[in-house]
Amino acid sequence: MPSILERAYGAEEFRDAGHALVDALADYLDLVKRRVPEKAIEWVEPETATRAWEERLKEGASPLALFESVLADSVKLHHPRYMGHQISPAAPVAALAGMLNDFINNGMGVYEMGVAGTAMERAVLASVARKMGFGESAGGMLTSGGTLANVTALLAARSIKAKTHVWKEGGAAPLALLVSEEAHYCVDRAVRIMGWGEGGIIKVPCDQRFALRTELLEPLYRQALAQGKEVIAVVGSACSTSTGSFDDLEAIGAFAEAHGLWFHVDGAHGAACVYAPGYRHLLRGLERADSVTMDFHKMLLTPSLTTALVFKREKDSFRTFAQKAEYLLDQAGDEDWYNLAKRTFECTKTMMSLRAYTLLQQYGEGLFEEYITKVNDLCAAFADILESRPHWQIATRPSCNILCFRCVPSEGPEESHNALNAQIRVDLLHEGRFYIVQTQLRGKIWLRVTLTNPFTTIEDLKELITHIEERAPVKIHRTT
Ligand SMILES: *Cc1c(COP(=O)(O)O)cnc(C)c1O
Repeated sequence: MPSILERAYGAEEFRDAGHALVDALADYLDLVKRRVPEKAIEWVEPETATRAWEERLKEGASPLALFESVLADSVKLHHPRYMGHQISPAAPVAALAGMLNDFINNGMGVYEMGVAGTAMERAVLASVARKMGFGESAGGMLTSGGTLANVTALLAARSIKAKTHVWKEGGAAPLALLVSEEAHYCVDRAVRIMGWGEGGIIKVPCDQRFALRTELLEPLYRQALAQGKEVIAVVGSACSTSTGSFDDLEAIGAFAEAHGLWFHVDGAHGAACVYAPGYRHLLRGLERADSVTMDFHKMLLTPSLTTALVFKREKDSFRTFAQKAEYLLDQAGDEDWYNLAKRTFECTKTMMSLRAYTLLQQYGEGLFEEYITKVNDLCAAFADILESRPHWQIATRPSCNILCFRCVPSEGPEESHNALNAQIRVDLLHEGRFYIVQTQLRGKIWLRVTLTNPFTTIEDLKELITHIEERAPVKIHRTT
């Protein structure tokens, strides 16, 4: 009898389970792309799901049976009617790269724990920085998500711009930064984590398009100074999460430069538009930034989490942490780019470079260009349809692949519209044929889609509208 350990590392067991899984995934991909099964999500109440999964843990199953149960209980991003959150359906070869990464399990904190991964990360960052329009001295690293990238960038900003050496002496208040009121919540969170408190986040109101009102930067900055705050940074959103609105990076960059502020661009979602010439203009002024966050797992078809944090001057990235860990990092004072843990929150870090590198090497930037152009164009076409129909509103014209819209039967007060749209979203979730989400903007509830699946068609979107109209709890009298 082989021991449990011998079984766990048996090459033949692995080969059989691996082949079975890849076959199952290839079949799944083929079916799901053709909208079979019909549902993009199989909704199960949290308590029911937990009971079932606890039961399975006791019963045991073959690896394939387990993996198939996971597929059945998971939202299907490869289904063209998945149009919910911003994560992209992983390109299959990038998922294979992910499996290789999990298998070899190189730690990546220091160079010798991931030679290939470190070098690939260097190559990916160099190509991203070039694409963004930065010069030779730019560089950066990959990290686990936009949230972490943003706080990493802001820590570097603090280290470089703040009068007090907070890392050494503590006491962060009254530092502050300026950011749009529509920014992702993680910027607010980063400020509080850094100990700047509520006063550390100065929210700049937005215009009708939900973009930061740049003419308010100057007066809000002056007001903050008068209140005794030390403003060190301004953050631009490219784009905002709820509506996909791009701030005017050119104007924010000029403002930052005039006052010697750090300019960080949260491009977690939209910085990817550097790859699509038709949408590159949305990022005009990006090269003015001191640091930029860009998620590969949102608009660049890469499994999560894979996020690039680019610094205009790579040496700034060594300022985030200034800490000794002698057993790991000798020459703690050196700017040795190849020992990545010096600059990232992660110590052990997954080889996320492999996923992005694989896509770039196998398909080139043309993959990203084709994808981004397709989903962004589709979103504009969807907005056209909604605008041409009675009983529908859009929050603002879409810039990329995010759109907020709502059903507004002419009769009934505002609250009833909110209730109606919230109900529509719950019904859709429970039915599972379309996966969309919702958001709140200025007190109104909106349905929200991110058209992230490259195989979603305008027909899918027309069906979504008809589906809602036919089932809306408030009967819509269709005139078209
Ligand atoms: C999604 C998003 C984030 C968060 O990124 P994660 O990778 O989910 O941590 C931050 N900012 C913006 C603008 C986003 O859209």
